[in-house]
Amino acid sequence: REVGRFANFDNENKVSQLNEVQQHVLDTIQNYFGWNRKEDQESRSKKQDDENYELRSTKDEIKNENKHIPEIEESSINNRLSSIPKEVVLLHGVTSSGKTEIYVKLIEQAIAQGKQVLYLLPEIALTTQIINRLRKYFGDAVGVYHSKFNENERVEVWRNVLQVQNRKSEAGSFNSGSATNNNQPTTNYKLIVGARSALFLPYSNLGLVIVDEEHDTSYKQYDPAPRYNARDAAIYLAHIHKAKTLLGSATPCLETYYNAQEGKYGFVEINQRFGGVQMPEILIADVKEATRKKLMKSHFSPLLLDTVTLALEQKEQVVLFQNRRGFAPQLECNMCAWVPHCTNCDVSLTFHKASNQLRCHYCGYATKPPSKCAACGDTDIKMKGFGTEKIEEELSIFFPKAKIARMDLDTTRSKFAHQHIIQDFEDGNIDILVGTQMVTKGLDFDNVTMVGVLNADSMLNFPDFRSFERSYQLMAQVSGRAGRKNKRGKVIIQTQNPDHVIIQDVIENNFLSMYTQQLSDRKDFNYPPYYRLIEITLIHKEIEMVNASAKYLADELKRHFQKRVLGPEFPLVSRIRNLYHKNILLKIERDASVAQVKKIVNDLLVQFKTKSDYKSVRVQMDVDPM
Ligand SMILES: [Zn+2]
Ligand SMILES: [Zn+2]
Repeated sequence: REVGRFANFDNENKVSQLNEVQQHVLDTIQNYFGWNRKEDQESRSKKQDDENYELRSTKDEIKNENKHIPEIEESSINNRLSSIPKEVVLLHGVTSSGKTEIYVKLIEQAIAQGKQVLYLLPEIALTTQIINRLRKYFGDAVGVYHSKFNENERVEVWRNVLQVQNRKSEAGSFNSGSATNNNQPTTNYKLIVGARSALFLPYSNLGLVIVDEEHDTSYKQYDPAPRYNARDAAIYLAHIHKAKTLLGSATPCLETYYNAQEGKYGFVEINQRFGGVQMPEILIADVKEATRKKLMKSHFSPLLLDTVTLALEQKEQVVLFQNRRGFAPQLECNMCAWVPHCTNCDVSLTFHKASNQLRCHYCGYATKPPSKCAACGDTDIKMKGFGTEKIEEELSIFFPKAKIARMDLDTTRSKFAHQHIIQDFEDGNIDILVGTQMVTKGLDFDNVTMVGVLNADSMLNFPDFRSFERSYQLMAQVSGRAGRKNKRGKVIIQTQNPDHVIIQDVIENNFLSMYTQQLSDRKDFNYPPYYRLIEITLIHKEIEMVNASAKYLADELKRHFQKRVLGPEFPLVSRIRNLYHKNILLKIERDASVAQVKKIVNDLLVQFKTKSDYKSVRVQMDVDPM
């Protein structure tokens, strides 16, 4: 057992070397955390004199950046430089910029201080790749924790986190590098890697929390309650432990980036990929134009098909992204436009070809596809739209020799399914990987040179104030899978709106442009980060009850919060599992007293629940809904 190597952080021969950019980023983060020793600081200030790479951390560069962001006042920049240290730091590094190596150095340092480290990832799928890398550095000191483990496995992890607590008094031995631990059980964990449920392990001695891909919506736990964002909960957990939090992302969440720009968080940026790998070339396939010229082959533009062909000829791998699973999102009668709907929910049923079923993605209801229209009896029923299953099938027609696999919720239900698909792809047993947003997230594959986005418009047109930000994040993230050391990656985005501002931002890799535009919209329309949102959902099996109770509660709320109350309004899908839903949205100024708002809302809800008419109405609260 090589506990000693954690103590050898200073011995550069025993740990891999960071490049200059990474070293600078590491120095900056350590500085924010107050983890530097004096001699380090001296050598760093010498080094800073001859820096010539693209990093925004000197004062002049920050001033320069200031020109693009009118919201930042000169004073807040001075403040940002002087208000070091920070509890939370945002590391904004483009895809493949070598963030993991920086994490490793910080983890080593925290462990050397006798502390525990929590490394959060948004998806279980991601833990597979990361864990293999981290085991090379930390061996048995790494524990993995997520919800796909069975109870026994979870108990074991729980115990191994607890053991550290029991032996806390011996923590000093890590610093001295002595071998006194050799007779102790060797399984207790210094580093826990996990999805959001790993937040609730019995830590006693946390020193560092890393939230990787901090923008990811999978960090939000919604159903069942408690409703929380694991990123925000992690920051609070770290705060309780007087630990530091590092947020990492190539496409930070708007609120997080804003907090960094405002100086609430420390901020450090990497604008280039590791090892001189170029950012991918992003090309647009104009689907409208191709359709007009009758060049589309089903859902594929000539540009996309040609690029896939070329990649396959070069024995390179391809990732294709389509944000719908199943075969076709809906069926429709060609005569009368009748659409089969779920019997329990107000939503159309998705056709799944492999199982020959129509399925509801909200409640799981499944039925056989109808042979004729239920409204007019016509047998001409066509499929509308396309999901990953259809893409997979059509690819096998266009590329009969290619090995094609699909990664979405339907193919990853079993415990090791993710792992197997990722392993197969890494081993070169798959040529084309088709998937939902699962394929966009942080996976690194050495031989992927081409990425295709089948339908950018469905994301951009989604009715939500975050849809532009999300679209940018998804497209930038999936693009990040393309490219390798000696070959620039290629990304093809299929869209009806080539001039869309978000598409242009993605092409130019211009996060700042997206951020600035979105921020100004959020300000104009009172959305986060300027306002906090609280969504109150009323649920009942009778629509009249939902309507009446929602109106009553909204009126009560308006007496206190006036125009900060929006709705009540039916959500996109208003009936789920035979229960009607209606939303009231509260928009509260960022600087308002949270405690006061909480008290008023709570009092109103108590009053609401005691009104006999509405006792049977279920009320759900979601603070900071996503
Ligand atoms: Zn019909
Ligand atoms: Zn349903």
